[in-house]
Amino acid sequence: MIPIDKIIDISMEISEEMTVYKNREENRPKIEVTRNFKNSDAFETTMTLGMHTGTHLDRPLHIIEDGDTMDSLSLERVVVPCQVLDLTKVQGGITKEDLAKKRIPKGHFILLKTRNSFEEDFNFSFVYLAASGANYLKDQGVIGVGIDALGIERDQPDKSTHKALLENDIMILEGLRLKEAEEEEYLLIAAPLKIKGAEAAPVRAMLVKLWKGES
Ligand SMILES: [Zn+2]
Repeated sequence: MIPIDKIIDISMEISEEMTVYKNREENRPKIEVTRNFKNSDAFETTMTLGMHTGTHLDRPLHIIEDGDTMDSLSLERVVVPCQVLDLTKVQGGITKEDLAKKRIPKGHFILLKTRNSFEEDFNFSFVYLAASGANYLKDQGVIGVGIDALGIERDQPDKSTHKALLENDIMILEGLRLKEAEEEEYLLIAAPLKIKGAEAAPVRAMLVKLWKGES
């Protein structure tokens, strides 16, 4: 028996009405019904979806010219041990000081739970990961960093947070919903769609809590 205690869905729901980055219309998904039961014997839809809309994983190509794409990402890297950090009291950027108080296990995917998870509309002052925080996580030997914002950085023209992570092949998960997650260790499953040459792709992300009691 697989000892699963519970599964927490940490993905955004995709719809034409969903919250998108800076409320930009061009980032909104378009869903079109191409067949229905009035004109055919089946129901089918087609969707146009930006790779950075909703819950998604960024690859180095997003920021680095000729960087790695989705093709070279193995599933071993996205079904991994994960540590959720409760940073719901932080305003603005998450810094090295905010993270230094926390347990950051090496080789884990770190998920940053912030007050963003409790807001439904796009907040232009969303909590993000400051460059000092990104460098600190890199030095701790993490394999990936996820956040409950549609961007991991905010108003950083040099893209220093993205670079600190992607230049060191540390994965970035954006658009998470972490309201139900506790500051604990989980198994993270965050497999992106297998899209050739893509710099990012949508993910159905989940946290699996494994049963630790006597069985
Ligand atoms: Zn992105």
